[in-house]
Amino acid sequence: MVNDSLGHDKGDLLLKMTAERLRAAVREGDTVARLGGDEFVVVLERVDAIDHVAKVAETLLQAVARPFQLAGHELTVSTSIGCSVYPRDGRDPATLLKHADLAMYKAKELRPGTFRFFDPVMNVTMLERLLTESGIKRALERDELVLHYQPRIDALTGTIIGIEALVRWMHPERGLIAPEDFIPMAEELGIIGAVGEWVLNTACRQNRAWLDAGLAPVRIAVNISAYQISEPGFADLLVRILDETGLAASCLELEITETSLMKNIEASVANLQLVKRAGVSISIDDFGTGYSSLAYLKKLPIDTLKIDKSFIQDLLNNPDDAAIVSATIALAHNMDLQVVAEGVTTAAQTEFLLQRNCTAMQGYLYSHPVTAEELTCVFQENMQRHRPVTSGVVR
Ligand code: C2E
Ligand code: CA
Ligand code: CA
Repeated sequence: MVNDSLGHDKGDLLLKMTAERLRAAVREGDTVARLGGDEFVVVLERVDAIDHVAKVAETLLQAVARPFQLAGHELTVSTSIGCSVYPRDGRDPATLLKHADLAMYKAKELRPGTFRFFDPVMNVTMLERLLTESGIKRALERDELVLHYQPRIDALTGTIIGIEALVRWMHPERGLIAPEDFIPMAEELGIIGAVGEWVLNTACRQNRAWLDAGLAPVRIAVNISAYQISEPGFADLLVRILDETGLAASCLELEITETSLMKNIEASVANLQLVKRAGVSISIDDFGTGYSSLAYLKKLPIDTLKIDKSFIQDLLNNPDDAAIVSATIALAHNMDLQVVAEGVTTAAQTEFLLQRNCTAMQGYLYSHPVTAEELTCVFQENMQRHRPVTSGVVR
């Protein structure tokens, strides 16, 4: 982002300033190195207790978290750290680095801005073997991917107003693999396109099947990764899939995370405009967790903001979260966008949201993500309960 907006020389400067802070945070005799891009390696020697590593990791996080002053701008940088310890986590540099990298990857995925120690389960050799290009491709060929569906509810009426499709990998031996465990790898390996196409196809086909079964039309929301949305030809693919599955564009929504959008903003915006023109809705996922450029928000052809579940979780106890949620709802309303709260698990959270006029919700309180068959039942019951009363007809 800094390279793109302020120029490469400012990007270099930021790296140097970061390096300086890292260096200042460790002891003499420790090593700070930049491996490439925005990745640094810190080697601590003379470690008496694992505790020491955790303390240093925390210090490093704090050192980088302080805002940077760069060319008249104040910037904050987010950092995630992975730690591996000799000899517990490896006996040679390559293994130690690989395991630190895995742990960093996990930290970044699960809780950005934190540190994490390598844990052998991250390395379950089975998973490692699966998470290769041929492994994931085989999953597609052998039909091992499945979609689960989570309803989006209007909390005022209890009606289903949308459905989010969430991918899982049902491995015959390893069992269920969560999207967070293979989607990032599929992105890294450059095969997210194939997975994404399968997901889009399956979700559209399923939604069409629900319509054909006589269920009320709802929009199905599909998660799209950064790579897909910046890929030329994405809109054509989308139109082709709608065509092949016979689903109306108005019954499809794309969810794109804020961070994905910002990754390649130009290419993404061009695609979003085409998608929008085709009649497909667009929502920003995990809103509030990325660099929300409000200036971009105004220019993007979006319909909905989805408030990230991390803000909903502690809503009632954490005044900061409450303020962020209230502000996001107000922002959405003022910009004429719809707003959805995700990860709603309690009635008290629902109450808070309703008081602020946020009525669309998703979360375990209403339903976990379930299989297509299970959702069909939920759907049918929901329709029965909320069947509109037709005047003049006596049943
Ligand atoms: P997301 O898009 O933010 O999806 C919401 C996640 O929150 C889902 O996790 C869902 O199961 C979980 N969730 C729903 N309600 C609650 C709740 O009340 N409490 C809590 N704690 N969690 C709740 P899931 O299915 O494991 O998906 C994780 C992430 O993986 C998704 O986050 C999304 O970013 C990604 N993902 C899933 N399917 C796809 C896909 O088809 N394509 C792409 N590119 N990414 C996907
Ligand atoms: Ca989502
Ligand atoms: Ca989300």
